[in-house]
Amino acid sequence: MWICEYWAETAAHILLNCQFTRAIWTAVAYLFNSPLLHPSSWMDISSVKAWWSERTSYASALGKPRAKATTSLILLTLWAVWKERNRRIFQHKLLRPSGVCALIKEGATLWIHAGISSSRTPISEIFGRNCI
Ligand SMILES: [Zn+2]
Repeated sequence: MWICEYWAETAAHILLNCQFTRAIWTAVAYLFNSPLLHPSSWMDISSVKAWWSERTSYASALGKPRAKATTSLILLTLWAVWKERNRRIFQHKLLRPSGVCALIKEGATLWIHAGISSSRTPISEIFGRNCI
């Protein structure tokens, strides 16, 4: 049981291009009011590295607190997708995109309580009221 039964398991496909993963990114972009995370805004998805450089470059233009929160949210989403991939392979269990999003939201809440923001600006203030 993989993330995707239709394409070869490359990092770019698992983390960015798979229909399953894109549904997660779309939901996260909406949930956190962060258009940078919506797949329709991605220009270069030839590799995870190219995509990461592009996303963090755009994020840096948002100012430090929001850039830092966006980067954290990107990392959290990548981590959640990777964990879902491993859940399917090693535990033979699967979540729908909405279930993975719920874990991302839960993770973001924990990160806020752990104080990820050096500016002490909560992610919920940065991303708006739809978040958390
Ligand atoms: Zn796929």
